[in-house]
Amino acid sequence: MIKTDICIVGAGPGGAAAALRLSHLGIPSVVVEKAVFPRDKICGDAISGRALTILRRIDPGIIDRFDAASSEQFSVWGIRFGAPNGAQIDVPFKPKYDPIADPKQGYVSKRIDFDNRLVDEVKKRDNIALHQGISIEKYERIPEGYLLSNADGSFQVQARLLIVANGAHSAFSRHHAGLEKDEAHHAGAVRAYYRNVKGLHPDNFIELHFLNELNPGYFWIFGLPGGYANVGVGMRSDFISRRRFNLTKSLEDIIANHPSFKDRFKDAERLGKTMGYGLPLGSKRRLISGDHFMLVGDAGHLIDPLSGEGIGNAINSGYIAAEQAQQCLATNDFSANTMLAYDQRVHRVLGKEMELSYRIQRIMARPWLINFVTNRIVRNPSLLYLIAAMYTDLDMRKRGLNPFFWIKALMKKSS
Ligand SMILES: Cc1cc2nc3c(=O)[nH]c(=O)nc-3n(C[C@H](O)[C@H](O)[C@H](O)COP(=O)(O)OP(=O)(O)OC[C@H]3O[C@@H](n4cnc5c(N)ncnc54)[C@H](O)[C@@H]3O)c2cc1C
Repeated sequence: MIKTDICIVGAGPGGAAAALRLSHLGIPSVVVEKAVFPRDKICGDAISGRALTILRRIDPGIIDRFDAASSEQFSVWGIRFGAPNGAQIDVPFKPKYDPIADPKQGYVSKRIDFDNRLVDEVKKRDNIALHQGISIEKYERIPEGYLLSNADGSFQVQARLLIVANGAHSAFSRHHAGLEKDEAHHAGAVRAYYRNVKGLHPDNFIELHFLNELNPGYFWIFGLPGGYANVGVGMRSDFISRRRFNLTKSLEDIIANHPSFKDRFKDAERLGKTMGYGLPLGSKRRLISGDHFMLVGDAGHLIDPLSGEGIGNAINSGYIAAEQAQQCLATNDFSANTMLAYDQRVHRVLGKEMELSYRIQRIMARPWLINFVTNRIVRNPSLLYLIAAMYTDLDMRKRGLNPFFWIKALMKKSS
């Protein structure tokens, strides 16, 4: 049996970030991972600027090494939005960006590559013990903390503190931490890889299309290196259940028949199967820690409820969990009460944005409103600066929580 202060379950972006931050703080950890890397993860493969910022904070060299493998990723400079009426707008992350001189704002990279690179970073650290190919199936609360075991008990870890980062289907999260799936705060999504999709943006803006047949949800096309694209659809789970909606069929339908897309996919070839997975959304605040444990990333239901972006939040929460672990070790206190500081910091860092995203998610359920906003912007592209300001101006973000602010601003600007 292994005895350790800190055990991290799962070596996806959340678990890897926690282990790396701990390592840089000089704190050893044991990481147990079910898969053997490189492993795939069903995802849209869009890696946000936030993810890059936190990784740079952990170790600036990570991104430099990642950049060196340029055949694995594309830099992304903005988002192309498509409205239900077919109108499209391109929103750069930064007005007047320079793809050569400006720092990267985000990437698209297959998760099989991106996650493997992070795990390579983990492998380089002397004070991280990574055990791959072991699935933790049993969690026993003991006076010292937790005793973890695989199915037949041949692998066991005793830890004072558990960082649970084993993704959207985490059994610990559901059965020990009590985070039940709530369909109004959960989404389903499917994705497939295609080659030779036409009409991708020259600076690789990712594409989100809000279509009548998918409302409330969206269809995405994210261009990848080598002529590939990650293509998918997602929708909130309560709508999927209520309508008995088949996401895979809907994706195939859009690609084959939708007037805006069928020509773009005419010569495209699908590689492999269409595959789906759950997205536990952060639109409902939950308790994500307790006696001797913290939940990170998808295990803590921390996916953005509007964009479905979860990699950045997983990395961010992993980083925060590592710093909380440092405090716990320093004070020898792993009580639920002390662990609340983790919840509070995660909420302070991510809460406002989750709230804003949730409000916009509900507004986006009205196709007429998306059409209205898109038409205004198509007629008056300077409105894009209003949207770009949302990313940088805090006051604007606060006002942005009020949908009437947006409607008034758009009417004023376009009149
Ligand atoms: C279709 C789809 C599209 C998405 N698109 C995007 C996107 O474009 N951008 C974005 O930012 N987010 C996207 N997301 C969300 C994103 O995939 C997740 O938020 C992200 O992977 C969360 O990282 P994580 O480290 O918490 O969990 P994961 O990446 O799921 O990692 C969990 C790890 O734990 C391991 N594990 C599981 N069970 C055990 C066990 N019992 N014992 C040991 N190890 C275990 C797994 O093997 C895995 O390696 C998408 C999700 C879906 C489903």
